[in-house]
Formats: sequence, C-alpha cells, structure tokens
Amino acid sequence: MTELLKGIAASSGVAVAKAYLLVQPDLSFEKKTVENTDAEKARLDDALAASTGELQAIRDKAATNLGEEEAQVFDAHLMVLADPEMVGQIKDSIESNKVNAESALKEVTDMFISIFEGMEDNAYMQERAADIKDVTKRVMSHLLGVTLPNPALINEEVVVIAHDLTPSDTAQLNKQFVKAFITNIGGRTSHSAIMARTLEIPAIVGTNNITELVKEGDVLAANGITGEVIINPNEDQKTAFLAEGEKYAKQKAEWALFKDAETVTADGKHFELAANIGTPKDVEGVLDNGGEAIGLYRTEFLYMESQDFPTEEEQYLAYKAVLEGMNGKPVVVRTMDIGGDKELPYFDLPHEMNPFLGYRALRISISEEGNTWFRTQLRALLRASVHGQLRVMFPMVALVKEFLAAKAIWDEEKAKLIAEGVAVADDIQVGIMIEIPAAAMIADRFAKHVDFMSIGTNDLIQYSMAADRMNDQVAYLYQPYNPSILRLIKNVIDAMHAEGKWAGMCGEMAGDQKAVPLLVGMGLDEFSMSATSILQTRSLMNRLDTTKMKELADKALNEVDTMEEVLALVEEYVGE
Ligand code: PEP
Ligand code: MG
Repeated sequence: MTELLKGIAASSGVAVAKAYLLVQPDLSFEKKTVENTDAEKARLDDALAASTGELQAIRDKAATNLGEEEAQVFDAHLMVLADPEMVGQIKDSIESNKVNAESALKEVTDMFISIFEGMEDNAYMQERAADIKDVTKRVMSHLLGVTLPNPALINEEVVVIAHDLTPSDTAQLNKQFVKAFITNIGGRTSHSAIMARTLEIPAIVGTNNITELVKEGDVLAANGITGEVIINPNEDQKTAFLAEGEKYAKQKAEWALFKDAETVTADGKHFELAANIGTPKDVEGVLDNGGEAIGLYRTEFLYMESQDFPTEEEQYLAYKAVLEGMNGKPVVVRTMDIGGDKELPYFDLPHEMNPFLGYRALRISISEEGNTWFRTQLRALLRASVHGQLRVMFPMVALVKEFLAAKAIWDEEKAKLIAEGVAVADDIQVGIMIEIPAAAMIADRFAKHVDFMSIGTNDLIQYSMAADRMNDQVAYLYQPYNPSILRLIKNVIDAMHAEGKWAGMCGEMAGDQKAVPLLVGMGLDEFSMSATSILQTRSLMNRLDTTKMKELADKALNEVDTMEEVLALVEEYVGE
C-alpha cells in the first residue's frame, strides 16, 4: 500500500529505490532441552561457518573501502569465531546440559564477556568483550535464521532506513549504492545529517517511525529537499519524484557557473564563503565547490575513527594534508569537540543526565584528565602550521577564563616547540566558537582576547531555546530566524567589529538560504557551510544589495516578535 509521510529535510536530492533496513533484528530465543545433542552441535558448526564466511566478506569490503586498519576490527572478530577454547565450551555445554545451541552459546559467551568486562583497567580486554558481543550476535542470527544488517556489503541501489545513524555508520555508507537515508530521529543539525550533506547523500531525518512502517522489499521515494517520503509509490508518484530530482540537478548546474566567480553582492561587497569539513578527504569537495577557505575542520572525526587517541604524528599528517590541500587558503581547525552525540569507543565518558550540557569539548581539553590529549593536539597543529594558513579555534567556551586557560596551554606548547628548534608559523590566529549564550552576551569582553569568533548556531540555538537539537518533538523551537537568536548574533558581530576583528559563522545557519540575507545585512564576515551549499549561496549573494539587507536586518532585529514575521520580511526583501 502506498503511504506518504514527512520528516525533516536534512540533505538535498531525490531518490527512488528499494528499502534497506539497517535495523537490529529480534534475537530472543527459547531455552530448550534437546535429546539429539549431535544435531545441536552440527547446527552450531553451521552457524559458525556461515558467520565466518560473512565476516570474511565484510572484512574484504572494509579493506577496499576504508583501508586495512579499519578492516582489522573484523580480524579480531574472526579470531573469536575460531577460538577453540570458547567453541569447545559451548559444545560441552550442549552435551552436558542437553540444551539447544542458542542457550549454550549465550551462557558461555556471557561468561567470557563478564570476565573480560570485569578487568576494568584493561582496555584490551574491554575490547575483547565488545568483540565477543558482536560475534555472538552474528552466530545467534544464523542459529535463528534472521539476517543482521551489513551495510558494508550493500551492492545495489537502496534507500537506507534506520532508527538513527551514528557518524561512523554514516561514514561507511557507499554513495554509489546508498541513494538516500531516512531515520526515525535526529534533526537538521545532528551529525549524521551534516555528514550526509558533505557526502551529498539525500537524507530525511526525524520521521518518528519509518522503521516500523517499512518492510523488506518495499520501494521508497525520498525527497531530501522537502522531507517527503512515499512508501511503495505508484508510477505517477515515482515520475513526480524523479522530475523533482531533475529540477534539482538543473539548479545545481546553474549554481555551478559560480564556481570560479568572486563572492560579491550586487553592490560589489565581498564576503568569504568557507566550508565545514570532517576529514582531509573532504578538501577535494571544498575546492570542487569553489570554497575560499575552511571555516571549520571538525577534528573529532579523527578521534572517532581511531582505535585510540590519535598520536601527534597521525594528527600532524592529517592537519598538514588539509593545509597543503587548501594551498595557502585559510583553514580553521577546531580542537576536539568530544561529548554530546560524539562519543569515543576508547574513552569512557561518565554517564550523564544531559550530555549536551556536560563534560565535553574544551571542558575536557582543559581538565586534568584531558590535558595530555589537548597538548598532543596543539603540538600537532603547531607543527603543521608551516604548511599553510592555520587558524585554531576552541569549542564550547562559556567563560573568558576557559579561553585564557586554553590559550596559555597553546602558548606554552608553542614556546616549547620553538625551544626545541621546530619551525612554527608566527601568524596563527587563535579564536573561539560562540555556541553558548553566556559567551555571546559578553562578546565585547571576549573580543579583546581572541583573534576571531565563529558562531556555532547548531549549539547556540539549542542552548538559547533550551531545545535539544536531536529531538524532533521540540524541533519547532529550533528557530534560527527568531529575533532573539538574531540579536545574539548581531551582538557578536558588532563586538568583533568594534575591535577591528572578524566574525564568522560555522553553524548550519550560515548556509541557510533564508538566513543569508539577514546575515549579510548584519555584516557577518565569513560564512562556513557544507561545501555543497557554497555555490548556491554565492549565486544568492550576487543578487543581494547590502544597504537593503541592512534595512531588512534592522527590521528583523527591532520591529517584529516572531520568526514567521522575520521570514515574511525576508520574502518581501529578497523574494522566494
Ligand atoms: C555548532 O554548534 O554550530 C557547530 C558548528 O558545531 P557542531 O555542529 O560540531 O556542534
Ligand atoms: Mg557545536
């Protein structure tokens, strides 16, 4: 049956393809007594063999798509499967307790897991416990005859359906086959949505229950521009969706004409259009889309993709690659922003009631525990600084004191390196993100200390409105155009201009076509966005007149109450 639903449009583009359910199946089973223990052992052997074959295929795929290092995780899984000690104990349990293979498997693996997990200080053993859990799930799925999702093995065009996608799930999606993804939860600024835009995979998030509505074999039509999804569309609907896709492709071709053009308004004022990236691989997309700078390099992906904290050398090579890739154009690197929805498998963050309000980002970096990791990152950055135009930025600053503490560590590491005879650039700007309303309010005080500010609206809006950016039930409060948010932004821009310094924005609002006219009117200097939004924004700016946009911004800031009224003003001044 055809069914229409609407989610949050998170990444533009249209797709019509078969559904791929990235959903964990039910692995519950009944404990049974068995007479024929040989048959049970044979069932176990079959499940082990099938799991081994599957893991080998995933391993090979991961090695080709992601590299040998990523593939090693699966080697560890294969070793667990071949462990004679564990397999022997499962078979003994079938034999002596006369139970089915499922319950023997669970009983024995649970025992191993709890022994390894008990060795709390031993990270290696903790990892082994995680490996056994993963492998047990796979063997159990074969015993029960259900299929585990294996996104790495997708080899036909699909639309991926999931409750949520972690940033690492998203990174593994192969653009060649994954034509779109749709999730139950998330918002436009959740990290999977941001990555989808970088990867140019159409995405719709926050549908609430797509995983309950879609079955294996269904066909999906997904429109990442409007957020519309149709389950099993009829021929007319398919044609309409595909026509939308073509219209979007045409628009993209028109924007592409701006690739080598300067970013200027109709009255000849220049603004800087920069890109947000997550890995050195993204630099290519920045240049392809005519980016003038990198306004935000989210270094935490480097941490999230590693098996342990990345070494100084690993980080140095990544930063150098980005700086060299940008060939002298500015690169703003943000120091690690761990916490919130960005977890590290090897760093046990304490369980918190409100992780977005908790121990995260710079709060970790300047803590006693985080100090060494922070210093390692700063040294890598300082060493890389000679390869281009580096700017360093600290995330989640609330207090002037926090900035000064971080800056003091930066200065110390810089002095140490110079004393060691290491070359370091002498023109590195050091700035902060403005993501916390308290910092935005006293931007004038911060402005005296920092070289630049970049407004992180993704967090600034969630903290100002007290509305979780991941929660679609409060998504209506996520209001970039609300006069309250505009006033905070204006306060930051004016404070920096009073000191003769620049203010940028790297939250998603910077690439929002309805917000750009307001930001131009407020005098924002640098706009940093998903690379794929740059050309569209350059084309828009080309039509804007700064005097008129200033008038628009003044009205939005001072004469209206609501976001709807602000949007009506934008339409009046700019048109649709
Ligand atoms: C922001 O908060 O606006 C931002 C750019 O940082 P992130 O999205 O990584 O939290
Ligand atoms: Mg943020």
